[in-house]
Amino acid sequence: MSGNKRLSGSQDAKFRRIRDKKAIEQNWLCYYCDTYMEMSIGPSYKLYTMTGEHVIPLSQGGANDETNIVAVCSQCNYERSKDYKNRYLRK
Ligand SMILES: [Zn+2]
Repeated sequence: MSGNKRLSGSQDAKFRRIRDKKAIEQNWLCYYCDTYMEMSIGPSYKLYTMTGEHVIPLSQGGANDETNIVAVCSQCNYERSKDYKNRYLRK
């Protein structure tokens, strides 16, 4: 496997289930910035929509389980993905 690791259908369902559970455990506060997150429903993608994230990216060997999945706002998710690209891909 090279480049982007994609989750299979069942892994993706597991990811969403864990993400939703973590959001409730975190009282819908972003894992990184403590911002209250919106539910990710409807067509509009708001700045602080709840999203799931692998703390250690799958591409870096992170696991697709409860030890490595957190609920974060879309803003932090975006910043982090940018950060990883800067750190690992730009050389
Ligand atoms: Zn955040």
